Amino acid sequence: MSIPALVAEPPAAAQKTESLRNVCDLPYDVLFELFRHLSAVDVTSLLSTCRDGRKHIQDPSIWQRLCSRYGLRSVAHFGGLPFYVVYTQLLHPYGPLLGLWASDYPYRGNIIEFRLIAGDEHEHGGIIGEVWRFPQTSTRYPVSPEYVRALKIGFDAPFIPSPTPVGADAAFAREVIPKARVYCGVLPPVDDAHWHSTYLEVVPSNSYGYFMQGYRRPFSHPDFPVGDAVWYDTQRGLPRLKPSIPVLVDQRELVRIYPAVRLPIVFASVTPHTKPAGISIHCSSGDDRCTQTYQPALPFDDLSTSPPRYYPLRRDIRAGVNPGDEGWGLETMTGLWLGAFGRYGTEVLHLTWHREQEELQAIKLTGDANVPRGAHSWTLHATSSAPSPPTSTHTGWTSELPGGCLMYSGTGTISERGFPYV
Ligand SMILES: [Zn+2]
Repeated sequence: MSIPALVAEPPAAAQKTESLRNVCDLPYDVLFELFRHLSAVDVTSLLSTCRDGRKHIQDPSIWQRLCSRYGLRSVAHFGGLPFYVVYTQLLHPYGPLLGLWASDYPYRGNIIEFRLIAGDEHEHGGIIGEVWRFPQTSTRYPVSPEYVRALKIGFDAPFIPSPTPVGADAAFAREVIPKARVYCGVLPPVDDAHWHSTYLEVVPSNSYGYFMQGYRRPFSHPDFPVGDAVWYDTQRGLPRLKPSIPVLVDQRELVRIYPAVRLPIVFASVTPHTKPAGISIHCSSGDDRCTQTYQPALPFDDLSTSPPRYYPLRRDIRAGVNPGDEGWGLETMTGLWLGAFGRYGTEVLHLTWHREQEELQAIKLTGDANVPRGAHSWTLHATSSAPSPPTSTHTGWTSELPGGCLMYSGTGTISERGFPYV
């Protein structure tokens, strides 16, 4: 009989299907092309599904390509570490930091900028965080920030491998992978024994905000960010770290029994507005120079105990358009600007063009004791017929600048010290 023989020997086409049932059975160069379209997590998951895949998991060409997505094309200055380690320990967890962040620090706010350095013969590569610092002196024109290194994430600190568990073999010990560490850039170590860590914390969404307790009553500080903040970068995401469980203390009752001589004072409590998840940074040294990098001197006492939270700020920096050019319009002024605020020096603004209202609106990202960060700074009306309603804290104004200027009417915010606006 011929039938049993057909069952025992399937056709050649069926055999081929059987041998390719796992994606790892594809030729490696085909797989490698597939990786182009996958995230690092997907590549790792795919290669982990089979024994043949696992032997390619540290293939430098895979990780070199993923590093190049961040602009890193050489690991020559990463202490001999391969692309695999630099990507998995540094760029994957901390890559979302790259860019600008704005903090909710009361009144003054703060901007920190993270960038990737490839390293050189003097310094290893890594991610550095630099605070924008402006001189606190009266200025007629805005000045560019001084970049102050606050922290670095990398492999510079001496690597202390975890002790090999009893009974583990030499192969296990070889598998220990150096971890990227976050350490202070304000007070660099004098020697290998004096590295101190900086903690980078992912703070989950919560509704805590700041208030000011005045002599008569408390008033709320501007929420930061507000729900529809145009400057907030919704694309960036947060570092891929386990979120903390923040210890947030409602100080509203405590501040009520505070002695009047200690007032006014800033405190933290719940607001009706939920803030998105953010990051906070604090240095383990406890040294004032470290703390002041993130929390520059406040004009009031501050009772709050949690460090400020930073939120991703869109890198909305555009090439300037000459107002004499045909393409100029108020809408071309959208983005980040530096402004001169008299005796408070230079502050950072985000300008937004509101087409329907024909208004250009400026929000403060950094601020001062009179008009704090997060507050509306001014609105400029594109049409002269636009109303400019004066209120207790908003007043109409006009400019009398000499000829050659474009003049618009608008509204601006001024305030007495402490911003008691509600
Ligand atoms: Zn420090």
